[in-house]
Amino acid sequence: MQAVVKEGERPIATNDSVLKVTLLGTGIPNPDINAFGTSTLIEAGSQRVMIDCGRGTVIRMAQMGFPLGYIDTVILSHYHSDHYSGLFDLLMTGTIQQPFSHRGGPLHVFGPPGVDDIAEGAWLATRPDREIRVADSEIDPEHMRIIPHVYTEEGVVFERDGLKIIAIDVDHGEFIKPAYAFRVEYAGHVFVHSHDTRYNENLIEQAQGADVFVHEVAAAKPSTLANYPRVKVAIDHHASPTDVGRVFAQTKPKLAMLTHVVLLPPDPMPISEVTSGIAAEYGGTVLVAEDLMSIEIGRNISVIPYHHGGRGHSIIDRSYTET
Ligand SMILES: [Zn+2]
Ligand SMILES: [Zn+2]
Repeated sequence: MQAVVKEGERPIATNDSVLKVTLLGTGIPNPDINAFGTSTLIEAGSQRVMIDCGRGTVIRMAQMGFPLGYIDTVILSHYHSDHYSGLFDLLMTGTIQQPFSHRGGPLHVFGPPGVDDIAEGAWLATRPDREIRVADSEIDPEHMRIIPHVYTEEGVVFERDGLKIIAIDVDHGEFIKPAYAFRVEYAGHVFVHSHDTRYNENLIEQAQGADVFVHEVAAAKPSTLANYPRVKVAIDHHASPTDVGRVFAQTKPKLAMLTHVVLLPPDPMPISEVTSGIAAEYGGTVLVAEDLMSIEIGRNISVIPYHHGGRGHSIIDRSYTET
């Protein structure tokens, strides 16, 4: 008999009043085994939503013991590849009726205008695989469909069972419009993720009262900027260390974190220079995020590294042993 992932076997946030955030990917476009593309899993009571789905998202889900079918809703911040190139793996592999996967329906993707193109293109691009698996009586073809949900302005993008996800208009550069940060609210707790942006007053305004504020950062040595003009183009789309220090100083989150740390080769700036740049403007604690950190926002804020938070409750392993 084929093993299935039963509802009761799925990991849930530790209790109903905890907002649980797992940073599956904290990287940038540069392929890096230690920092995959941006992807953040939100768990709150009965709800679970993924924000962005960069490279390697399915690998990171598997490392945490989440079957791919654990998620059927993804919200996208903007259309740089490091924020959605993992979507197609999640879409296709997620349909396979095995314990590691087992999504029993289509994938709902919320995004700015352009998500229709992604849905249409994915339906076409996945056809060869879909036809094989349908002929093999392996999958329902409709499970390999992206249902697009377009949002066209900032505000509430998703609201269900007390979980509210609010898009915040940010400034990621002239040709990258729109681009959004997200404010996640649940049971009185607030998590804010900047996604990709320059220093932005609108984000500062809407990130007030955050328990946890995860912000991107980018920096390069003057010699790198002088010798590699393309590095300057990339850096100009992001927030500098002193910018991020100013943002944290004006928002005063209980916990400030850095993610999406853009330190471009060939001579990347050391992270210690980034943190000292932030320190020039902000006197609080700053935690540099890494892939697979879980953050539990409840009565207090706990940051749990992978070795304590993930592999201990692998549904994949358990489902196989019960087969
Ligand atoms: Zn990015
Ligand atoms: Zn970007």
